[in-house]
Amino acid sequence: MKAAIFHEAHKPLTIENVEIDTPIGREVLVRTVASGVCHSDLHFVDGYYPFPTPAILGHEAAGIVEAVGPQVGEFKPGDHVIACLSVFCGACDYCLTGKTHLCQTRPARKKDEPPKLTWNGQPVNQFANLSAYAEKMLVHENALVKIDDQMPFAQAALIGCGVTTGVGAVLNTARIEPGSTVAVFGAGGVGLATIQGARIAGARMIIAVDTMESKFAKAKELGATHIVNARADDPVKAIRTLTNGGVDYSFEAIGLKIAAEQCFDCLKPGGTATVIGMIPVGQKIELDGPMFLREKKIQGCSMGSNRFKVDMPRYIEFYRQGRLKLDEMVSRRGRLEDVNEAFRAMKAGEVARTVLMFD
Ligand SMILES: [Zn+2]
Ligand SMILES: [Zn+2]
Repeated sequence: MKAAIFHEAHKPLTIENVEIDTPIGREVLVRTVASGVCHSDLHFVDGYYPFPTPAILGHEAAGIVEAVGPQVGEFKPGDHVIACLSVFCGACDYCLTGKTHLCQTRPARKKDEPPKLTWNGQPVNQFANLSAYAEKMLVHENALVKIDDQMPFAQAALIGCGVTTGVGAVLNTARIEPGSTVAVFGAGGVGLATIQGARIAGARMIIAVDTMESKFAKAKELGATHIVNARADDPVKAIRTLTNGGVDYSFEAIGLKIAAEQCFDCLKPGGTATVIGMIPVGQKIELDGPMFLREKKIQGCSMGSNRFKVDMPRYIEFYRQGRLKLDEMVSRRGRLEDVNEAFRAMKAGEVARTVLMFD
């Protein structure tokens, strides 16, 4: 099969012929139909996070089940599915208390089992237990959810990471109340999903913060009531002015130290900041100590604290009802060969999402 191989940081991915094994145990072989290009992959290409190479990146995909391992009960060939990197064991303390997204004993092949992916005879590392920049994915059945055959694949793929992360940060992690005031730092794919989550949850004010003018029209279209250009204005001051003292909830959806700090600073007393973005390894967030006396809170967020097998079908229902706008988030479609161009367009702020299509 064709796949895009990641060789080392700062180098373009190359399209290669890769061998993929047949499913064993509870594994499922999925034919990839749509694969979204998410910013998290770029963190690895840009060298902010380490990952052993060679590897196949990509972690936001939808496709069709092609074959199932002997112990798979939930899926059969022909099923339409969304893949999720929050693969879970189903038996650990996290899983048994409803926090499958934090599972620490994620199922994987054992050392004495053959590698899932090989290229020129050498093993290729599977990224996020998915490796979705490839014509096929070999994943555990607890990394998949079955979806309705009517759901379009490109839009379904976005639910696989960006949408689940952003909407989930609002509905599951922060659990905002209707009528809340919200600031979202970053209006890329995850930021736009966060804005939509806030709108769905009934926020009365949603302030989108970004430095790229090109992103504001889409942010407004998807639910932002106010815009702050952090290049032109101090976003903390601007948010305090707009809200008469600060927001109830703020979300960091870029992965920037300064944005995480501003997220905390722009809260009103008692407010909660949620850091969704991937802050580069080794970076520390600095907060004003006395502000804790005002009961301000800051928390992390992993993939929107998802219970994806439950959440994703709900998001599809929101999409059908017109409450979750996904057509508007698919800015461009491309082929696997366009993956490097998709990274460039994302960095340039030209797109909410490029979705690579296979057929
Ligand atoms: Zn992602
Ligand atoms: Zn578990």
